[in-house]
Amino acid sequence: MTRDGDPLLLTPGPLTTTATVKRAMLHDWGSRDESFIAMTAEVRARLIAAAGLGEEFTAVPIQGSGTFAVEAMLGTLLDPDAGALILVNGAYGRRMIEICRRIGRRTETYAVKETELHDPAEIARLLAADPDLSHVVAIQCETTSGILNPVAEIAAVVAAAGRRLMIDAMSGFGALPLDSNAVSFDALAASSNKCFQGVPGLAFVICRIAALAAAKGRAPFLSLDLHDQWRGFEGNGQWRYTPPTQVLAAFRQALRDHADEGGVAARGARYRRNCAVLIEGMKGLGFEPLLPEALQAPIIVTFRRPNHPNFDFDALYEGMKARGFVIYPGKITEAETFRVGCIGDLDEADMRAAVMAAADSLAEMGADLRGAAA
Ligand SMILES: *Cc1c(COP(=O)(O)O)cnc(C)c1O
Repeated sequence: MTRDGDPLLLTPGPLTTTATVKRAMLHDWGSRDESFIAMTAEVRARLIAAAGLGEEFTAVPIQGSGTFAVEAMLGTLLDPDAGALILVNGAYGRRMIEICRRIGRRTETYAVKETELHDPAEIARLLAADPDLSHVVAIQCETTSGILNPVAEIAAVVAAAGRRLMIDAMSGFGALPLDSNAVSFDALAASSNKCFQGVPGLAFVICRIAALAAAKGRAPFLSLDLHDQWRGFEGNGQWRYTPPTQVLAAFRQALRDHADEGGVAARGARYRRNCAVLIEGMKGLGFEPLLPEALQAPIIVTFRRPNHPNFDFDALYEGMKARGFVIYPGKITEAETFRVGCIGDLDEADMRAAVMAAADSLAEMGADLRGAAA
């Protein structure tokens, strides 16, 4: 199966985008022109609306991939004299510790296995033991495994301890609800090329305005200073430094399409159907998902590497690629795995075709996993 001549990307970003989104890039814009200033304003407003947030929040786009937004969020909002408790159950949590190390912000780590959730009581205990921890940083969907972390529960513990929450909502934002009434947070970071189905090159942080306003002069860097970036947008509507003009145009189209599809609820429902079809189909072939269903976010599914003697991941990858599907190698450290994404311009029929492609690739390898699955 292909789309516009390209294989479907079963990867959690970059992902398969619609022709409409791709076509939105076929123009040139002057970055200081009125039409581009209006485009920037529309994107910022649509992000707040898509999240169902009130006017106490503002969206600050930043050039770059998702990690740029995470780094911008941590460096802008963390006080050099305080510290952050980072909740780790995968590679993206570990990356935030590395960011804080590089920018000189103190962290404490609460790490659990990549297939496990954090214990809210332990979070409360760690915060009580260290009053200098001003913030907790959590990840909504840890894309390393595809696990769904209970952000609302974590937010309640953080609020009860009188601390502030920041969220890496990268891989779920736009499809998984983050109701600010249930989840009290100061900032969340995400990017254009995940559940909003834009093209890569743009990220953003949605901030509580009061927290952002208080962070003036705190960032240890210039280009990723969210406070200054925000003041720029609020001042003359322009980006401080060269914006990715075509990427923003594609993202505006993607946000319009997201709203037309029915917003977060409809996008999430489509991905949940994709995920269910994928898991059921792959199980039928003898593959075993790493996570129990209750922990699985409908974003990306990690499967254990089967122990059949004829099974070879590279052969599966190449077999599926030849049939028009690109999958992902595993990222977790605790088991041999591979991953298949459920997000992007994909529906149930695409996922059924992907399972067929996996079945044909297995047949080619002579690896019948049924009954032999570990
Ligand atoms: C994709 C992703 C990021 C950002 O990764 P980039 O490669 O910089 O876009 C950060 N956190 C999570 C959970 C992600 O899924």
